[in-house]
Amino acid sequence: MSTVSVVDVAKRYQLGKQEVVALDNINLSIEAGEFTAIAGPSGSGKSTLLNLIGCIDTPDRGAIIINGTDVSRQTPDELADYRANTIGFIFQTFNLLPVLTALENVEYPLLHRKDVSKQERHERVMHFLDVVGLASFAGHRPNELSGGQRQRVAIARALATHPSIVLADEPTANLDHKTGQGVLDLMKAINRDSKTTFIFSTHDAKVMQIADRVVNMGDGRIIA
Ligand code: ADP
Ligand code: MG
Repeated sequence: MSTVSVVDVAKRYQLGKQEVVALDNINLSIEAGEFTAIAGPSGSGKSTLLNLIGCIDTPDRGAIIINGTDVSRQTPDELADYRANTIGFIFQTFNLLPVLTALENVEYPLLHRKDVSKQERHERVMHFLDVVGLASFAGHRPNELSGGQRQRVAIARALATHPSIVLADEPTANLDHKTGQGVLDLMKAINRDSKTTFIFSTHDAKVMQIADRVVNMGDGRIIA
């Protein structure tokens, strides 16, 4: 059984009187441990697809099955706990909380987890800050970190909940090439070491090369 199965999925947005077809009949299966790039130009539907897989949004038609659970018939509110335990999200603009330190940002998604003790929480936070090479920056706030360091904090935050799937929406788009390459190499190393499934989107041909598999999108469809 696949970790992610997207079956006959369609998603439209209403923009005034105009209807925008963001996704049109998408079928996709992703196996556990894969490192997959969703590639395509701006507007091709990459973010919409990642948001559906990440239970941030729901499809108009079709099914999305994550680890055997059909998430397409439930609202994002109903799915909040499921999402928090299953999915790690990394955003193009990092989305760190500016008033919190690196340590507190990584800790944040664990605060409401009753199954994670305070001690375990601190161990995990320090472990993942170490994994991303930022243990000595634990006390820094986002504005005291470079773009690449901010994205590394976001990676640590995504991993701290021990998700089975990490989704990254154009994670290198706001980084220079060398820094972006470092962030991707880090994601790849974590994928290799922990067998965590990674799905990331990009429109940069250089970034796609690191993927095990590239899914090409255009105009809301998967193109071969
Ligand atoms: P990508 O991430 O590949 O740039 P998106 O998934 O963001 O593409 O967008 C796919 C299409 O859906 C685009 O035409 C975009 O304008 C449209 N779209 C995305 N989100 C919305 C929204 N909230 N309202 C209206 N149209 C949207
Ligand atoms: Mg996008």
